[in-house]
Amino acid sequence: MAEIEREAMEYDVVIVGAGPAGLSAAIRLKQLDADLNVVVLEKGSEVGAHILSGAVLDPCGLDALIPDWKEKGAPLNVPVHEDNFYMLGEAGKIRIPNAPMPPLMNNHGNYIVSMGNVCRWMAEQAEELGVEIFPGMACSELVYGDNGEVKGVVAGVFGLEPDGSYGPGTEPGMELHGKYVFLSEGVRGSLSKEVIAKYDLSAGKEPQKYGVGMKEIWEIDPAKHKEGTVTHTMGWPLGSNAGGGSFIYHLENNQVYVGFVVHLNYKNPHLYPYMEFQRFKHHPMVAELLKGGKRVAYGARAITEGGWQSMPKLVAPGVALLGCSAGMVNVPRIKGNHNAMLSGKAAAEAAYDAIKADRSGDELTAYETDVREGPIGSDLKKVRNVKPLWSKYGLTASLVLGGMDMWTNTLGFSLLGTLGHGKNDALSTEEASKHQPIDYPKPDGTLSFDRLTNVSFAMTNHEESQPCHLKLTDPDIPVKVNLPKFDEPAQRYCPAGVYEMVEDEEGPRFVINFQNCVHCKTCDIKDPSQNITWTTPQGGDGPNYPNM
Ligand SMILES: Cc1cc2nc3c(=O)[nH]c(=O)nc-3n(C[C@H](O)[C@H](O)[C@H](O)COP(=O)(O)OP(=O)(O)OC[C@H]3O[C@@H](n4cnc5c(N)ncnc54)[C@H](O)[C@@H]3O)c2cc1C
Repeated sequence: MAEIEREAMEYDVVIVGAGPAGLSAAIRLKQLDADLNVVVLEKGSEVGAHILSGAVLDPCGLDALIPDWKEKGAPLNVPVHEDNFYMLGEAGKIRIPNAPMPPLMNNHGNYIVSMGNVCRWMAEQAEELGVEIFPGMACSELVYGDNGEVKGVVAGVFGLEPDGSYGPGTEPGMELHGKYVFLSEGVRGSLSKEVIAKYDLSAGKEPQKYGVGMKEIWEIDPAKHKEGTVTHTMGWPLGSNAGGGSFIYHLENNQVYVGFVVHLNYKNPHLYPYMEFQRFKHHPMVAELLKGGKRVAYGARAITEGGWQSMPKLVAPGVALLGCSAGMVNVPRIKGNHNAMLSGKAAAEAAYDAIKADRSGDELTAYETDVREGPIGSDLKKVRNVKPLWSKYGLTASLVLGGMDMWTNTLGFSLLGTLGHGKNDALSTEEASKHQPIDYPKPDGTLSFDRLTNVSFAMTNHEESQPCHLKLTDPDIPVKVNLPKFDEPAQRYCPAGVYEMVEDEEGPRFVINFQNCVHCKTCDIKDPSQNITWTTPQGGDGPNYPNM
């Protein structure tokens, strides 16, 4: 194929992804120097369209970035008033008292927010400072300089032919070059994955770990709505089949976020995370809350869970990994937005100093140091053993041991050192023959819904004539390997019903309905043969979350 000719635009800093990490970096750069040229590229049709984490936000990141956020009208309207934690059985529940929990688990001082709306507000702040933000622009390739440094990205390729070639209607996009490129793509970013592999940034680190998080927004009976209440549960329905749990957050306007996270290191390939979520809503405590209400939105996204010991090296020549591109979620708190914001601020400060010193295209080591030795490192380090303890010893033991370890870490030491995570999540999957299939009740259409109906509430959309963005390294593996060995778990782990095994006259056939994809990235993580690569489809495609 002939070399593609593209226009190039020069910036000081090019930022990929308008989540809390990328937007914080953009804001901080312009706060430090209004003359810096900063661009943010976002694959969603608008800022916030792909943001899922409706969320209890620890405002420490925002406090550091925009101390007068209240006066500036940030949409943090619902302070947490009540914090509940339950262990569920099939019909009952046991309340875990707050008192023995380490202080870091306390949600008082935090806010229940729509992170989509917080990002929309942050984008306004950034634009007022002069940041250029381009939504609907997917960054599909990295551009490397002569010395092997990351020099920029290719964004805005539209209208590829179905086979991926360039046709008469193809817009080749443009190159955006920067003295530094910030990758703030969130969990399992596709360009971040390339950078981590190319520069071997995970060398000597534990494998990254993940969960898949699914969420619905419900409008409920006002008599049952308790604005500011946060509830977390563990136990039923997952039991010993997988780690994970639920969250129920009462926000404004009689709305409730109901979400469920399943850790992706589960062994039984018959497990069906989406159906676990649907089943969870039939627990008497949840069913009673939702009865008479209606589900108004649905979405899903993977969440990073590896924490401190899995964070790769954060910098390579010309490039830095921000927020969940590097995995900065504090797992027991289920919070990563504050660290995403702090990382954006830290990366911006390092880039500002470097640019002032006439540097470009090198490693921003000051950023790495700030993350590891500053507030992010301290937040993640304290909880580093919770996830490995859970994976190794199960829920109850991890509650006790993890709780004790968080307490001692709060006091400045750990009796356990730093525990490892073991295998990555794909390799944790065991053969189907070793496990019993799980019988899931049929959704009732009132409290629980079939997957495709729910996906229509993610308002996801993909131009059908483009190439499938879910690439199989070997197209034969689903039928020849994954089906006989693992009962092809893609049929179940995908929370959007993208993958199907259909029976033809010639036998089973693997079908990829990429149009349904909600960009959660679970397939890229959990496929036991590691045969699926999530690449970015053209800009503007994907979910259109309202106020998730
Ligand atoms: C179900 C669930 C519940 C959660 N609950 C909470 C909570 O209550 N509190 C909390 O603090 N955290 C929570 N988190 C974690 C939180 O979502 C993350 O820590 C946070 O989103 C990380 O921010 P980020 O800016 O790094 O990435 P993201 O918020 O994921 O933003 C990345 C952005 O980059 C864009 N992008 C990605 N790739 C490209 C590309 N190649 N080109 C252009 N654009 C691109 C995406 O569309 C997206 O807009 C939750 C996560 C999940 C999944």
